[in-house]
Amino acid sequence: MSDESEKKTPTNFVHDLIDEDNRTGRFDGRVQTRFPPEPNGYLHIGHAKSICLNFGTAQKYNGLCKLRFDDTNPTKEDVEYVNSIQEDVRWIGYDFGEAVFASDYFDQLYDWAEQLIGDGLAYVDSQSLDEIREGRGTAMQPGTESPFRNRSVDENLDLFRRMKAGEFPDGAHVLRAKIDMASKHLAMRDPIMYRIRHAHHHRTGDKWCLYPMYDFTHGQSDSIEGVTHSICTLEFENNRPLYDWYLDKLKVYHPQQIEFARLSLTYTMMSKRRLLELVQEKTVSGWNDPRMPTLCGLRRRGYTPEAIRNFCQSIGVTKFNGWTDLSVLENSLRDDLNKRAPRVMGVLNPLKVVITNYPEGQIEDLEAVNNPEDESAGTRMVPFSRELYIERDDFMEIPPKKFFRLSPGVEVRLRYAYFITCTDVVKDANGEITELHCTYDPATRGGNSPDGRKVKSTIHWVSAAKGLKATVRIYDNLFTKPDPDDVPEGGTWKDNLNPHSLEVRETCYVEPSLANAQPGDRYQFERLGYFCADSEDSKPGQPVFNRTVTLKDTWAKEAKKG
Ligand code: ATP
Ligand code: MG
Repeated sequence: MSDESEKKTPTNFVHDLIDEDNRTGRFDGRVQTRFPPEPNGYLHIGHAKSICLNFGTAQKYNGLCKLRFDDTNPTKEDVEYVNSIQEDVRWIGYDFGEAVFASDYFDQLYDWAEQLIGDGLAYVDSQSLDEIREGRGTAMQPGTESPFRNRSVDENLDLFRRMKAGEFPDGAHVLRAKIDMASKHLAMRDPIMYRIRHAHHHRTGDKWCLYPMYDFTHGQSDSIEGVTHSICTLEFENNRPLYDWYLDKLKVYHPQQIEFARLSLTYTMMSKRRLLELVQEKTVSGWNDPRMPTLCGLRRRGYTPEAIRNFCQSIGVTKFNGWTDLSVLENSLRDDLNKRAPRVMGVLNPLKVVITNYPEGQIEDLEAVNNPEDESAGTRMVPFSRELYIERDDFMEIPPKKFFRLSPGVEVRLRYAYFITCTDVVKDANGEITELHCTYDPATRGGNSPDGRKVKSTIHWVSAAKGLKATVRIYDNLFTKPDPDDVPEGGTWKDNLNPHSLEVRETCYVEPSLANAQPGDRYQFERLGYFCADSEDSKPGQPVFNRTVTLKDTWAKEAKKG
């Protein structure tokens, strides 16, 4: 996709397999993939790996990749999800043209089911779902055959047509493939092909009361579309014999299923069902809460599509499940934002400084560099005044040995401005520091001393007279453990939710240029990290910023200290 993605070449066994197929001419050199989400939730960073693999592979081989909705489960699916998924795939950077839907193939699938019945390869089972489950056996024990397994073709056809016509309630019958109840593959023990479900479908409405199972839908959809390489996650390895069986028995074009290891990211939960719980229980503000691993959450947090694509490219594609450290994703984002985010100054925990020898009422515009990584970004003017805010952490009344920032009698540089020296500490009745008195050296304008005098530190600041008040949301990991499922017996994954994952600071000050920040604009706040104007709550003149990521990986530091 982007130029960066070509830089490194991590392992990608899928591409090796395709190279081999192209060498032997297996699919006439054609490459066609698909990304097949079920519209039952929002896409997350794990899906991004699959999106980049499927669309990226098609691009690499000048092939085709479709976005196909696997919409066979009407009770859990919704157009809200269909729309968000399309938006997210486009945002990641892939143009899929028109999306396709498995439900478009319901008529064809139904005909194929009748064909298998006619060939004696499918039957209507009237056992309850519990009986069917029990009869399936275990990995150690073969299953038992259903008493309905040997119904005649005519009886099966009649019942199946009446199922379609809506004569039976949910659960009365199912259609099963007649394969082998003793197969070592559990998926091959007469899997269910169709179940009755009197439910409204978001696309087919009330046309059907009979819906095909995933396994009976997926391979055939691939076949209809002409997919060559059907890439899915490792859990589906067990279903591959069934994928192949349906296509063989139907005697239709036969794509190759390939399984790869799903993404697991530390400190991150990727189960759609659980993410839905967090939304429903209002643990987070919604699917796009900036703490969520959803693509809309990451977008609102300030992630760029380039960072996500580069991340997906850099982690490679293998057959082995394992953990990817969250810092790999964050570093990919830092690399990207470092190149393009304009630098600004903002103070998150303000402490007032009065420059006692600076003229009252005077405002001076000082030149500041917009992005040291990108000369073309130019410079801007930042107002300086007698009263300023600095970061409370940048001052200590009694500094420990290695503290080089501001303290009484110590001189520091104000970024792009002057050297200042702290002369007085003003406190309230409780002994809380309320402001600092400092003097400045007019000869150091711009940040350098003509006499070559050195200072040990440079701190950021915002003019109290001209600065803009802002709300800043400081986000941290949603989970406290690298594996959110790592809980002692009797506990649940929710015990690992981080109670400090969101801190809202309402009295921050930022330089006035940020009055025009548009929702979604990203900045580096010097010395603090990357921040993004919130897409829902930020207003001109009243900005709300989300901390996207710190400048350095603080969790890695803590782990080392550990
Ligand atoms: P569920 O089936 O529980 O609803 P799912 O995560 O499998 O959830 P799908 O919508 O079926 O969701 O996924 C669409 C595609 O994304 C599938 O091909 C799936 O294999 C892939 N995918 C899902 N999660 C990950 C992940 N963590 N890493 C890589 N690919 C993933
Ligand atoms: Mg799935």
